[in-house]
Amino acid sequence: MATQSNATMDKLISLCRRRGFIFQSSEIYGGLNACYDYGPLGVELKRNIKDFWWNWMVSRRSDIVGLDASILMAPRVWEASGHVAGFTDPLVDCKVCKHRFRADMIAEAGKCPDCGGALTDIRQFNLMFKTFMGPVEDSASVVYLRPETAQGIYVNYKNVLDSSRLKVPFGIGQIGKAFRNEITTENFIFRTREFEQMEMQYFVQPGSDMEWFEYWKTDRQAYYMALGINPDKVRFHEHGKDELAHYATAAFDIQYEFPFGWKELEGIHNRTDFDLKRHQEHSGKDMAYFDEVTRERYIPYIIEASAGADRTLLCVLSDAFEEQELEKDTRTVLHFHPAIAPIKVGIFPLVKKDGMPEMAHKIEATLKPHFPVFYDESGAVGRRYRRQDEIGTPFCVTVDTESLQNETVTIRDRDSMQQERLKIDELFHFVYRKMQV
Ligand code: ATP
Repeated sequence: MATQSNATMDKLISLCRRRGFIFQSSEIYGGLNACYDYGPLGVELKRNIKDFWWNWMVSRRSDIVGLDASILMAPRVWEASGHVAGFTDPLVDCKVCKHRFRADMIAEAGKCPDCGGALTDIRQFNLMFKTFMGPVEDSASVVYLRPETAQGIYVNYKNVLDSSRLKVPFGIGQIGKAFRNEITTENFIFRTREFEQMEMQYFVQPGSDMEWFEYWKTDRQAYYMALGINPDKVRFHEHGKDELAHYATAAFDIQYEFPFGWKELEGIHNRTDFDLKRHQEHSGKDMAYFDEVTRERYIPYIIEASAGADRTLLCVLSDAFEEQELEKDTRTVLHFHPAIAPIKVGIFPLVKKDGMPEMAHKIEATLKPHFPVFYDESGAVGRRYRRQDEIGTPFCVTVDTESLQNETVTIRDRDSMQQERLKIDELFHFVYRKMQV
């Protein structure tokens, strides 16, 4: 991956739209503020990021299992979790221009950042989206769109424990949509009202919690390095006492240096036994764990690693983006790790004759069942390389005259732009090996 990303938000947004990574939601109707749709390349990239996370956090481990809880949950879940009473942000309005802000995000207290006008007093605004279940729209039928995926894990902790052979310490991972009626949205897909979280909750014995907290800090940092993110642009930010959420005794954010500054990518929290205790109180169900070896009963502490899939995608895009001044032109390249690149191989016949397209199509058919490839025969080869560079395709294979004689092709590396010759039947293993982390 490049260490010299020179992304700006304008360039990223324009590339995303032009090449089909991300579109504004409901664009033909003027768009819906802060909602986005992932296009053909965006959906591949996002799926690869989610698979990468799932593989790192769930598949490769024997102490973590997966879950997919429903978005709508019993409203009492959100009373128990503290979200109905306390999942609020401080809201202020400008008395002059009427713009609305999150009070804790304003640089100069009491002054409108847009026009300098006076602001109203702070009101607490609950971020949960409400809707109604069933045909009657009354207070008894209110349900919420989940503002985090974590509660789906907590309320299923006993189900998972009782139906598996897991013992503390163990974890449950989940990827899914979350919704927050954010007062202000910002920076493209960085803060939106509908987004996806990739969360892992790790259940541990009280007393071992800070040790596990440190373990997860180290592991999660290693994960971003494996994803190919520039280490100079990743750092920890420890929450001060005034920043800590109501459930946490310790919290670190993993921050990334986006084009608009250092911002949170993921939160790692020691949530203690807060959530399970609250669910025990509110549901009347026993949430204790019985350790068969030590014969102890306790409510486990929880260490949470909570990342945003959309924020990770923005981080990956921004980190991978480079505009390079070459001798004759400028090339735009996305230096994605091959594991997450939407398309793995571009396949080109050098010219549209002499059996080269047929041979290239044969290579396409051999590789396509294993990973996404793209066949392109239009325009000069140099132009075709550039089109693949711009969407982050790590390899381009060209069928030329020599290919017809000895069953070899050139394979060109996106980052070094160097070419080497390979036997056609070595292609799959060559690319597959590069896709491993
Ligand atoms: P912030 O302080 O930015 O509002 P938070 O601390 O409330 O975020 P968490 O509740 O810890 O965020 O959520 C965990 C992760 O979910 C975040 O690190 C982020 O990656 C993602 N996330 C949270 N809110 C949003 C949002 N509105 N849009 C996109 N991703 C989000």
